[in-house]
Amino acid sequence: MNNLISLLTTIVGKDYIFTSSEKVAEYNLGTFPHKNTNKIVIKPANTAQVQQIVKTINQYNLSNDDSKFAISTVSSGKNWGYSAQEPSFDNAILMQLSRIKELDNYDDKQGTITLTPGVTQQDLYEYLQEQGGKFWMDATGSSPECSIIGNTMERGFGHTEYGDHFNNVCSFEVILADGSLINTGFKQFSKNGVIPVAADCYKWGIGPYVDGLFTQSNFGIVTKMTLWLMPKPEHFEAFFISIKDEDKIADLIDALQPLKLNGIIKSSAHIGNDHKAIQALSFYPWKKAKNQTPLPESIKNTLKKKFMVNAWSVSGAFYGTKAEVKVWKKILKQAIKPVTTDIKFIDQSTLNLAMKFKGILSLITGIDFNSNIPLLEKVFRLKQGIPTNYFIPSTYWRKKTPPKTIDGLDPTQDNVGLLWLAPIAPIDGQHVKAMVKIINAIQIKYGYEPGLSITLLTERTLDCVVSLVYDRDIEGEDVKALACHDEMFEALTNKGYFPYRLSSHAHEAYSKIDSSLIPQLKKIKSVLDQQTVLSPDKYGI
Ligand SMILES: Cc1cc2nc3c(=O)[nH]c(=O)nc-3n(C[C@H](O)[C@H](O)[C@H](O)COP(=O)(O)OP(=O)(O)OC[C@H]3O[C@@H](n4cnc5c(N)ncnc54)[C@H](O)[C@@H]3O)c2cc1C
Repeated sequence: MNNLISLLTTIVGKDYIFTSSEKVAEYNLGTFPHKNTNKIVIKPANTAQVQQIVKTINQYNLSNDDSKFAISTVSSGKNWGYSAQEPSFDNAILMQLSRIKELDNYDDKQGTITLTPGVTQQDLYEYLQEQGGKFWMDATGSSPECSIIGNTMERGFGHTEYGDHFNNVCSFEVILADGSLINTGFKQFSKNGVIPVAADCYKWGIGPYVDGLFTQSNFGIVTKMTLWLMPKPEHFEAFFISIKDEDKIADLIDALQPLKLNGIIKSSAHIGNDHKAIQALSFYPWKKAKNQTPLPESIKNTLKKKFMVNAWSVSGAFYGTKAEVKVWKKILKQAIKPVTTDIKFIDQSTLNLAMKFKGILSLITGIDFNSNIPLLEKVFRLKQGIPTNYFIPSTYWRKKTPPKTIDGLDPTQDNVGLLWLAPIAPIDGQHVKAMVKIINAIQIKYGYEPGLSITLLTERTLDCVVSLVYDRDIEGEDVKALACHDEMFEALTNKGYFPYRLSSHAHEAYSKIDSSLIPQLKKIKSVLDQQTVLSPDKYGI
């Protein structure tokens, strides 16, 4: 192994490889218990170094029968609540690509840009602003320091019309397990610096379309990707809909469904329950609850009143001309009328007014507008693709000591317990009702508040993100949270509600489910990665 370390050190330099258990331990932190750990951390500076690292490990494995190594790749490694930087196998060489930071080929006519794994949400946002803000990006609710490629590799999603991230990318540059470099789409035909003209605009290329093979998998390391950007609309208006009666959620979903299908609502509308809103606005009232969990109903109701939170709240946005938005607003109002009339449309000037008068409003009404209007502002801005740190503290909900600052918060360093489970269903009220019933019953049984958000993600599907938020400093909580997760995973998948992405913990339960495809993917893996150098067992492959 020492021999391998010295070979790798020659490639990246001694400052970019960590082997001491103390330093590597920082990369083994997580928001729930880990089964697998990293043994070495390496941070290449460019694609050529990635290739050399992969080739070197291949060579080492070939000549060492009893000591084999494999690489686990992350871009920024902030996959909090899903895996953080945990590998899919033990004793991994963690390759972190955050140093490879390039924004290139910005096309301000077609709205395309090429980026590398080190480019974060914040980097892209600032770059687009510097270019005049003609195009908007999509942003997630996670840290501005999250990698765009990292999120896309897990097929994550955000809040705008471009919220389904994998839907808006093309032309991958990929390093395969033997160290060779390939391009997908039309870019495969690039020659002597000449790139086929539609490479960044037409994602299917010619022949088999393979980009999906490199997401949620272990077939290669993506070192470049083209991202499609949203033209800044002439007019932007966010909408916020609320219902007081939690049982009306199915009716509300069914009222929104045709609008999503026919393209009136193009943004990925986000629907949070009361727990989710309370967790974004406050921390667990341990004293008031006399250390009892889950949150007593009476305290929940007091908090709902204090922050003016309803059973379910929808947020979405319209992007278009002023005339278009006017028509869409009317259609939306009409569509939800049988369920609720509580709908607010917010444009920039309304938001400015609300921000200005939030203090006075709080005084007059006794409602904490000082907290809930800034939340509304952050949601409004997310729908314009502006990344924010604002939502990270919500993961500290159960901590006895709330965080002192928002900037630079890292839940893994503060022993926050966080585990997501994100089942997908058709946009249909009955499916939502069924999922909510399962999730509520199991979470409450284990003593957790069922914080839920539902995102109308595509024209036909919604994603229900279940958050298991707890405090890892409390003895026994890790075991309890995992048991709660496993029971939900089993109950949901048994009813056909499969997650759109897996946490490292869910890999075990996932591997027990029969699949007609995974055995074939394993065959592809054995051809592409004969030495099993890239993330063995990831997503069951
Ligand atoms: C409060 C909060 C809010 C969140 N909101 C959202 C949200 O709105 N939407 C959302 O999607 N997620 C959300 N998350 C989850 C998560 O933080 C984000 O998805 C985040 O973008 C993933 O981390 P990352 O970008 O650092 O990716 P990484 O951790 O770098 O990568 C994620 C995974 O992708 C693979 N991968 C990474 N880079 C490569 C590569 N170059 N080649 C091949 N495979 C690669 C690896 O398997 C890696 O483990 C949230 C988390 C928190 C705590």
